[in-house]
Amino acid sequence: MLTESEHKPREARQYDRNKCIRCQKEIEIGEFTWHTEIEGVKEFCSRKCYQKYETKLEELRQQWKGKSFEEFLNVVYPNNWWRSLWKRDRKNINLVDLTNFDLRGDLDVSDFGNGHDSVRTEIILNGNPNLGKIVDRKGPEKWNKTKIIISRPQEYLDYWYPINGTCVRENESKQTNNFGKRREEIGELDISHQQLTGELDLSDFVRLTNLDCRGNQLTSLNLSNCSQLTNLAFSDNYPH
Ligand SMILES: [Zn+2]
Repeated sequence: MLTESEHKPREARQYDRNKCIRCQKEIEIGEFTWHTEIEGVKEFCSRKCYQKYETKLEELRQQWKGKSFEEFLNVVYPNNWWRSLWKRDRKNINLVDLTNFDLRGDLDVSDFGNGHDSVRTEIILNGNPNLGKIVDRKGPEKWNKTKIIISRPQEYLDYWYPINGTCVRENESKQTNNFGKRREEIGELDISHQQLTGELDLSDFVRLTNLDCRGNQLTSLNLSNCSQLTNLAFSDNYPH
């Protein structure tokens, strides 16, 4: 009988990230692939596969617009692979693309990306302005198995640093924790490596002294109200 550690790697390889998101065909290193909005998250073996996937997503968007995350996930991403459209259960799915689905309510990510060591579920949440709370019953240790991506800068800020509330993001870096602070109370902001793309407007962050936004794809910054800013780290922002 195999021990847990002996059969893990083989299972894990089955869900490797360099497989086509739609058909699971292996993609050779250096082979030309198709990506969409967010670089490195969606990868398809061919243009045909990519188009089929996009068509399916568009159908689902029409069908589910305005419904709750809970209802949607129970039907489209059920927790058993044989009922799943993608033939994966939640713990073994790499990507949940909810771009522009306009779903509402809380999003429970507890069961995603909780399988083998190499499986991480990336959940793209652009275009869901009525998103409530993101909940993970399995606690902080599991968070590295689920990556939440909101790549549109203003939507990112509106979720993690809500305009009429307080910051819901905990321990953004070793040095920085703004949890519970309002935008205007924040002195140090670390939003590095968050896959942010486009223009970033920090007008409401009027007390900002240190800003780290390295490693994104930002094209411009609005810092016109940030008169106290003394440190700005903006390297590695390559628009694609
Ligand atoms: Zn494919």
